[in-house]
Amino acid sequence: MIPVCICGGCGRTIEKEFVYCPWCGQSKIAMISEEERMEEIFNRLEEIQNNSRVEKIEKMSDRLNQLKKELDSLVLCSEMHK
Ligand SMILES: [Zn+2]
Repeated sequence: MIPVCICGGCGRTIEKEFVYCPWCGQSKIAMISEEERMEEIFNRLEEIQNNSRVEKIEKMSDRLNQLKKELDSLVLCSEMHK
């Protein structure tokens, strides 16, 4: 893997050897360090995980509602056949 860092000017990933960003011309001094980059990635991951967690919970509650309906109709059905 090519060592890369993120340009502080445009946020794009560029090769670490580059002195200037090929996208926006920002000098490397303004670029964030590997540590900050990792932190940014972790933050983004956390955000994605949080979003998918909310999605999962919503899906689960949908499924639960569906199951409840099925259960209700089953109960109704069994009561009718008593
Ligand atoms: Zn740039």
